[in-house]
Formats: sequence, C-alpha cells, structure tokens
Amino acid sequence: MDCSIDMISEENEGYVKVDRYNDDTTQQLISSYNDILKNIPGEDPEREGLVKTPERVAKAMQFLTQGYQQDPVGILKSAMFKEDYRQMVIVKDIEIFSMCEHHMLPFFGKAHVAYIPNGHITGLSKIARVVDAYARRLQVQERLTTQIKECIQDTLNPLGVAVVIEAQHMCMAMRGVQKQHSATTTSDFSGAFEKQATRDEFIQLIQSRLR
Ligand SMILES: [Zn+2]
Repeated sequence: MDCSIDMISEENEGYVKVDRYNDDTTQQLISSYNDILKNIPGEDPEREGLVKTPERVAKAMQFLTQGYQQDPVGILKSAMFKEDYRQMVIVKDIEIFSMCEHHMLPFFGKAHVAYIPNGHITGLSKIARVVDAYARRLQVQERLTTQIKECIQDTLNPLGVAVVIEAQHMCMAMRGVQKQHSATTTSDFSGAFEKQATRDEFIQLIQSRLR
C-alpha cells in the first residue's frame, strides 16, 4: 500500500468507515475522471452539472474501495470469545454492495454466512463487517464468496463455514445481454458443510424466510 490514508485506527476494532480522504489520491482521481469526461463523445465536462463531478466520483470511489484499508481478520478477532456452543450459527440476508472488477459497475444482493463453532464464537455484527470489508473492493462474486469463507475458517477455526451469495450484476443488467432480473448465486463450503446433510440443513434454513 503506497499511501497512508488516515482512516485506520487500531483502537477501532479493525473497522473504520472512510470519512476522510487521502488528498494525493483524491487529486489524482479528480484529474483522471476529468479526462474520462473529456473523452466521452458528445459530453461537455465544463457544463454546470459536471464541474464538481470528478471530485464527487473521486471520493465515492475511495469510499467504495475502502475494503483494501480494512483488516477482516482483525475485525473477527476484535470480538472473539471462548464458547462451547457447537451448533450452526447463521447470519443471513447480509446486504452486499460491491463492484465487478471487469466493468467497474456495481453488483449487489445478499450474503448468507454460517459456521459451526469449535471453541470460539465471534460477534454476529463482525460477520457482516467481514463481508463488507471484502465487498468494498473491485471483485468478482466467486472470489468474494471464497475470501469470506477462508477468513472465517482461518481465524475462528470452526468445524465448518458456509457462504452463499445471491447478487445482481449491473454489467449484465445495463449492457450486453440485458437480463435485468437475473441473479447469480455462488457458494463455498468448508469442513462440516462438505457433508450433504449439513449443507442441506443450512440451505433449508436460509431459504425458510427468503421465499
Ligand atoms: Zn462485470
């Protein structure tokens, strides 16, 4: 990482929202987005509505990619407790907003995450924050799914982890095939969830309220 964005603070549970922006990064992005506007045929970057657009987009882009400055392992460890509970813990309907790395257009939907503790549990809100930390980067849905699973598996060392993500991709809806309502589902499982029965139980539980 080449810049020291002053949004990271150790005391803050490894998770901080961007509310300040790195000045150098902002300036460079402003100049880049200015060029982009100039290069859109038929557009006039000087017109009133666009004058401040490069700056707004420069800040929005830093917000949407703040996950690179977050530490998902630190987030989980900040609320990790010894506990004997060994049943499935499910956090479902976690909203995700991410950006596809191929077109830099949003994809968004829901993530459902489960794990079976093996001596340690974590705060439920931390699971959602881990999802956010990986989602707020340039992503593909498949990798996002696997990164969440591996982070939880490697940090909590549970008996198993399951992650299912259902998302709509604007790059599909707005361009190309224009399948406006198609959703993409990805899943990844480890440990106990590799057993069909456990996986079925999880799928049934996340579907019970969904449909
Ligand atoms: Zn795409």
